[in-house]
Amino acid sequence: MPRPIQVTVHPEALRANLARLRAETPDSRVWGVVKANAYGHGIERALEGLRSVDGFALLDLDEASRLRALDWRGPLLLLEGVFETRDLELCSRLGLWHVVHCEEQIDMLALHKTHAPHRVFLKMNSGMNRLGLRPAAYRNAWARLNALPQVEEITHMTHFSDADGPLGVAHQVRVFDAATRDLPGERSLSNSAAILRHAAAPDLPNLAADWVRPGVAIYGSAPDFPAHDIAHWGLLPAMTLSSRVIAVQALQAGDTVGYGSTFSAPGAMRIGIVACGYADGYPRHCSTGTPVLVQGRRTRTLGRVSMDMIAVDLTDLPEAGFGSEVTLWGRAGNGQVLSIDEVAHAGGTVGYELMCAVAPRVPVQVDPAA
Ligand SMILES: *Cc1c(COP(=O)(O)O)cnc(C)c1O
Repeated sequence: MPRPIQVTVHPEALRANLARLRAETPDSRVWGVVKANAYGHGIERALEGLRSVDGFALLDLDEASRLRALDWRGPLLLLEGVFETRDLELCSRLGLWHVVHCEEQIDMLALHKTHAPHRVFLKMNSGMNRLGLRPAAYRNAWARLNALPQVEEITHMTHFSDADGPLGVAHQVRVFDAATRDLPGERSLSNSAAILRHAAAPDLPNLAADWVRPGVAIYGSAPDFPAHDIAHWGLLPAMTLSSRVIAVQALQAGDTVGYGSTFSAPGAMRIGIVACGYADGYPRHCSTGTPVLVQGRRTRTLGRVSMDMIAVDLTDLPEAGFGSEVTLWGRAGNGQVLSIDEVAHAGGTVGYELMCAVAPRVPVQVDPAA
């Protein structure tokens, strides 16, 4: 028997989460963001649950090629655009739309001998200071692109730094609107947090615009946890990380658990040792107190996470023992949910990082029930 750790991807949850996001922005087309191998779920495995999107947005030419090989004929958008002139060949061949975020990428396009004109998303740096042209340079860049025979259509785009937090998006929307107001073309602004938190706000009527770009919410993580959780947003976990108890120990008061003896039993306890460690992608920072489900019932981790194992508290779960199902995050066999956000929060990180960081040694299956 293989080691019992397992990731399960739930296509039904992907479908439900997409429907939930669409309901929030019914007049917009949806880019399903599938960068980082569909946020760790696997593009091939996630595709079935994501077929209702209007296009896929990603970073790697390789991921774009894989989607074309899977017979996805719809739009594909490269969110960082191309990295060298040669990449434009593949854009032409595979029909990829691409972001243009800097003058150098316009130079490359101007030199490119294209078969068919390209559809580009011109990205404005409206305050995040990562990618994009500043408002003062944006209009000139637009005019340059607009004059190129290599370019067929230009969509205006920007990205928010604080859609999930108290600063919000209004200041960036103002900058974006002011610089693009009189320019023709479609627009795209919102990620998951902007869709869920701000798209329905009456003071930001253009936020959903022509295209939205949800990522993490599709996969069942609340982008603004702990302010809100997935239950609040009506999202379902699209990934379950599960394993089993492979040993049980009975502790006396004063006995310690694991490397560094960081947990000491206050009295008699029963603990389970679970086949899951940081080499599987479970965060090492999730020491004592991180929530975990055993046979679908909530308990906690104890001591340090080691490479291949963690310890969990079974003291109040007398029916649990060797072989019991353990849900590190996601959905247990009895339907109980432990959100990836809760686990991430206990480890001082975000759901995004955990879903992207599941280790290659963990086998992945698609939920046969959905
Ligand atoms: C990753 C990304 C998104 C999706 O962000 P989420 O927070 O996962 O919804 C949208 N737009 C761009 C440009 C991105 O890089």
